Amino acid sequence: MGLVTRAPQGVELRGVEKRYGAVVAVRALDLEVRPGELVVLVGPSGCGKSTLLRLIAGLIAPTAGEVWIGGRRVDDVEPGARDVSMVFQSYALYPHMTVAGNLGFGLRVRGTPRDEIERRVAEAAAALGLSDLLSWRPGQLSGGQRQRVALGRAMVRDPGVFLFDEPLSNLDAELRLRTRDEIAALHRRLGTTMIFVTHDQVEALSLGERVAVMDRGRLQQVGTPDEVYRRPRNLFVAGFVGSPPINCIPLARDEGGRLVGGPFALHAPSGLDRATLGVRPEDLALAGGDDDPTGTGDFRAAVLRVEALGSEQRVHLDGPGDAAWVARAGPGLRVAPGDRVRVSVAWERSHLFGPDGRREEAAPRPLSRPTSP
Ligand code: ADP
Repeated sequence: MGLVTRAPQGVELRGVEKRYGAVVAVRALDLEVRPGELVVLVGPSGCGKSTLLRLIAGLIAPTAGEVWIGGRRVDDVEPGARDVSMVFQSYALYPHMTVAGNLGFGLRVRGTPRDEIERRVAEAAAALGLSDLLSWRPGQLSGGQRQRVALGRAMVRDPGVFLFDEPLSNLDAELRLRTRDEIAALHRRLGTTMIFVTHDQVEALSLGERVAVMDRGRLQQVGTPDEVYRRPRNLFVAGFVGSPPINCIPLARDEGGRLVGGPFALHAPSGLDRATLGVRPEDLALAGGDDDPTGTGDFRAAVLRVEALGSEQRVHLDGPGDAAWVARAGPGLRVAPGDRVRVSVAWERSHLFGPDGRREEAAPRPLSRPTSP
């Protein structure tokens, strides 16, 4: 389809900072988005995602640093001349205009010839399944159709970069999933660079080719969804990505030079006096009293609550130590509140985080079998 004629553009941020008085919304941030890539910016509310997107769009100016789009420094370039299109959370369609009118509005304002407007509107409408709705008005459309019109409005401008600011947050759960799939499909088809902002880590991992995790104005990690999930750079990323969240317990070095906490005694990497052990819920294996042929496991815990979710169970545990952990188990495991279970940790997939939160490269290593509580 001849929709995208311009080559996708890369985006590069170099030491970008944005301050509002004492508030540092974005600090010393470097990020490179490759041409044609789909990168999702994700982080908790207030971490600076929207600010970063607005800096790229040119809606606000950085306090320090440089913004590059398509190999060109654009700090002094007006938003309209940056070769980007932004899709907002509130899609603000003109209610008195038809779908076709809304789609073509940006082009009309720029004085694009009428036949070209018609061609581009028809192409965008076809790509988004809106061809039969061109004469409708926004009031007659469903939420999902309106969202697609907002997308189409950005598409007809044929940008080198699409910017999405939480475009799915007004949609109900089912429509959210469908629109997310549509955006991913659109990206595969158009090959345009897309930068997508969301606070939802599940959305980020399912949509992004790479995910950029932010916290308090700082970029914490950029990587594929798999890297960010399996090799989180720090405790923040480990805790933010994954649901239910990673299980943690604090450890401290004892006189024997071991890292101990709750029932655990681990090898202490040099220089580490305190640490946090992190274990994903799926990296815990449970066995009931007699189900475990070796009769071991790494610790014992009482079952507090079981969430049966059909394809899996989430087993809430009272332990290890003072921590309350959650294990993911298959639907076949038979446990009930009050049961005592033996729990085995998949150490090779688990993590140690130092006092500064940074993940140790080596996986945690247990030194001795725990004593039963
Ligand atoms: P997010 O999109 O991740 O929720 P924002 O980028 O909107 O976060 O905001 C980051 C921080 O910058 C927040 O602390 C917010 O209060 C602050 N901030 C954003 N815009 C402004 C503004 N125009 N004036 C003052 N502070 C702002």
